[in-house]
Amino acid sequence: MRVRVAIIGAGFAGAATAYHLSRCGGEGIVVLEREAVCGLHASGRNAALCRSVADDPHWTALTVRGAALLRNPPADLGDTPLLARGGALLVTSWDATLASVLAQAAAFGVPHQLLSRAALQARWPLLAELPAQGVVSFPDDGVIDVHALLQGYLAAARAAGVNVVTGAEVVGLARAGAGMRVDFRGGTLEADCVVIAAGAWAGPLGTLAGADVPAFATLRRHLFVTERDARVPVGGSASLPWVWQLDEGFYVRPESGGWLMSACDQDAHPPVAPVVAPGALEHLAERVATLAPALLERGVAHSWACLRTFTPEQRPLLGWDHKVHPLFWVAGLGGHGATASGAVGALAAELIMARLAGTLDDDQGGSPRPD
Ligand SMILES: Cc1cc2nc3c(=O)[nH]c(=O)nc-3n(C[C@H](O)[C@H](O)[C@H](O)COP(=O)(O)OP(=O)(O)OC[C@H]3O[C@@H](n4cnc5c(N)ncnc54)[C@H](O)[C@@H]3O)c2cc1C
Repeated sequence: MRVRVAIIGAGFAGAATAYHLSRCGGEGIVVLEREAVCGLHASGRNAALCRSVADDPHWTALTVRGAALLRNPPADLGDTPLLARGGALLVTSWDATLASVLAQAAAFGVPHQLLSRAALQARWPLLAELPAQGVVSFPDDGVIDVHALLQGYLAAARAAGVNVVTGAEVVGLARAGAGMRVDFRGGTLEADCVVIAAGAWAGPLGTLAGADVPAFATLRRHLFVTERDARVPVGGSASLPWVWQLDEGFYVRPESGGWLMSACDQDAHPPVAPVVAPGALEHLAERVATLAPALLERGVAHSWACLRTFTPEQRPLLGWDHKVHPLFWVAGLGGHGATASGAVGALAAELIMARLAGTLDDDQGGSPRPD
């Protein structure tokens, strides 16, 4: 089989790229997903925060565009994937972190409001003990329906003619003329271009292809959801769907009648699906006991761990490989891939279409080391 584009991975990176490519016609585009179900890894197991202002303006340029798509999705993506509105970033002192948050919010035109600590406590008394000198509230951020968003990208791509194949682990990548040969469980194809959108497995796939592979870091993070708690706000403008204490490293939001929490842990982990580490719950409990002890009243109903993938620069890798020219990277989406997916997919599709249309030569196809 010969295709124009073979995308490896059907998480947010691959699904959003397929969706945006398919808007110009989906024929000749195939998505190969190893698992039987899409979204089994980071894209289905994240905290689902729509956070417009990231730690780095390079990221914020993407998260702002991605968040705009979440608020006003095109009709073919289905219902709005933003479930609730509002978020707040907290810092313990009026330092560079707060200055950066405010400067980015202003530079990118993100609606925000500086709140006093008393105002935060009044709106969310359970978090009264969270240390905060600076509180920046973002009324247009919120919580993403990540499953609806992922399935929305894939359904629209399929409807436009993209072939999404599950249970199709890619096991071989080799140059074949101007394109590449892709061997996967269940078949072989040749593609004009191959997109590596494989999350934590991007590095090993790049090595398989003989590409210019950066030293990706794959870091495990734990999430915990408590039992139901009658004190969980039921929505409306008076509640804050998520609160993130930046310099202590802790976030919390309502989930399924309880609380979803993370201590923002990140230990290096090989690219294999992680399990919950012994001691992870104790680590969270210690952090909560210091920051928001009122949340300790409910037990943990379930917990999981998943990998976030970073380039050495902690910026997304979006562009053509320098060594293997038919190879395109959509990788290293770190902790912003759900929010930024719409922007990442649009940018990737633009660069890929330009090359396929012959309007970009090999040296202009985007940099694998964007800066
Ligand atoms: C705990 C946690 C919390 C997070 N919280 C947030 C948040 O609140 N907000 C936010 O915006 N982002 C968040 N993120 C980040 C976001 O989830 C990721 O950036 C995003 O999901 C990455 O998408 P991806 O497609 O690159 O990777 P993945 O979702 O991992 O998808 C890669 C896919 O490639 C497939 N694959 C791998 N190897 C092969 C192969 N050989 N052949 C075929 N298929 C293959 C995998 O099976 C997988 O389905 C969080 C991440 C984690 C882990």
